[in-house]
Amino acid sequence: MQFTDLGLSAELLRAIGEQGYTTPTPVQQQAIPHILAGRDLEALAQTGTGKTAAFVLPLLQRLTNPLVSPLQKVTHTAPRVLVLVPTRELAAQVTESVRIYGAHTGLRSLAVFGGVGINPQIQTLRRGIDILVATPGRLLDHLGQRTVDLSKVQTLVLDEADRMFDMGFIRDIRRIIERLPKVRQNLMFSATFAAEVRELAHTVLKNPALVEVARRNAPAELVSHAVIKVDKEQKRDLLLHLFEAHGWHQVLVFCRTKHGADALSKKLDQSGVRSAALHGNKSQNARTRALADFKAGKLAALVATDIAARGLDIDSLPRVVNFELPNVPEDYIHRIGRTGRAGASGEALSLVSSDERVELRDIERLLKREIATSVVPGFEPQHNNSVPRAAAGRPPAHKPAQARTRTGTGDRSSAPRSPRLARDGGGAKTASHHSGQRHR
Ligand code: AMP
Repeated sequence: MQFTDLGLSAELLRAIGEQGYTTPTPVQQQAIPHILAGRDLEALAQTGTGKTAAFVLPLLQRLTNPLVSPLQKVTHTAPRVLVLVPTRELAAQVTESVRIYGAHTGLRSLAVFGGVGINPQIQTLRRGIDILVATPGRLLDHLGQRTVDLSKVQTLVLDEADRMFDMGFIRDIRRIIERLPKVRQNLMFSATFAAEVRELAHTVLKNPALVEVARRNAPAELVSHAVIKVDKEQKRDLLLHLFEAHGWHQVLVFCRTKHGADALSKKLDQSGVRSAALHGNKSQNARTRALADFKAGKLAALVATDIAARGLDIDSLPRVVNFELPNVPEDYIHRIGRTGRAGASGEALSLVSSDERVELRDIERLLKREIATSVVPGFEPQHNNSVPRAAAGRPPAHKPAQARTRTGTGDRSSAPRSPRLARDGGGAKTASHHSGQRHR
């Protein structure tokens, strides 16, 4: 199938051609006809599948079709499409896609998110826009100040809905939805369909078409996974060694905490590996600059926390390194979603110390495969690093919660980690997510 088979307008086909795309991705092939027809849609598609163009293209088309959208753009000022996203980076990325694909349509868009001044946003809103891309918090600020009018919204898009739940936006989202016209088109994109996402889909979507392009939690097919076992206190030196030995460039490195990301980035930089940290405590300007430098190849490493990295769109990123494994195994999938995009191959390398064996096992369970492990000469672990492996498809071994203690020197004795214990105890999801949030 070609883009020309999808019934898109000449203006859109021209913009797609300028991007060098010829073939729509599976999510685009499946979703575009439903959205063009005005149906609600529930799409299971992770980042990297081309999901942004899957909703942006048909919505641009509907906005320029006077039969579908009778309001002439010259006479109206209120947005007709509202896209809600979990992070500033994703807001900027979606708006950029609207700008690129809508280059020949004359439609106007705006990204509205916190961390930057509200006044320029107010001025642009006053001049009038067609597509509003917003994070929930800042949009509520605008609603509170009556600087945005949502009464003309024809289509609501909830992008990365699962992440919005992870980040605790659900109440904000419901408050925003209350302010929208009752009759509208609703589109929901999510990488996973956790129970709470299904519940929201149930209340928001009306007779939706279903599109599923990835197995639940399936990682990008083209990513290879590898683990290097190493003692915790050796990780920094090992990472430096890997950069030097392999001449790595453009590596996205994940840490669990903002502090850890700062410290590691500093250490890399001081040792001659150009690096920047990306996390929630950085100003929007610093984040934008770090990302631009990284994309331009000026930085060898971008050291990020999970939340900060959400929504990053970096073409052909060859390698993701997990300096620390995430608390929540699903975050591993989100992390590696940054590589192996749009058909390129990628490598996900994790530096795993003895205290992370439970996290590794949980990730292998989620992937339904074991990840090959190795050691690097000169960095052989001295601590007990035996990881009980999760064979593909094998059901989880049910250990009593108390038995889950850390081993190995360098750990804080056998102190149980509360989030994991909470999960074993059954009330887990929230506890583990909260824990993830707290650290980021
Ligand atoms: P997304 O899943 O929306 O984050 O998109 C992932 C990447 O795929 C982005 O860099 C897009 O520019 C790119 N992309 C989107 N659609 C296509 C396509 N049909 N062919 C090639 N690349 C695409």
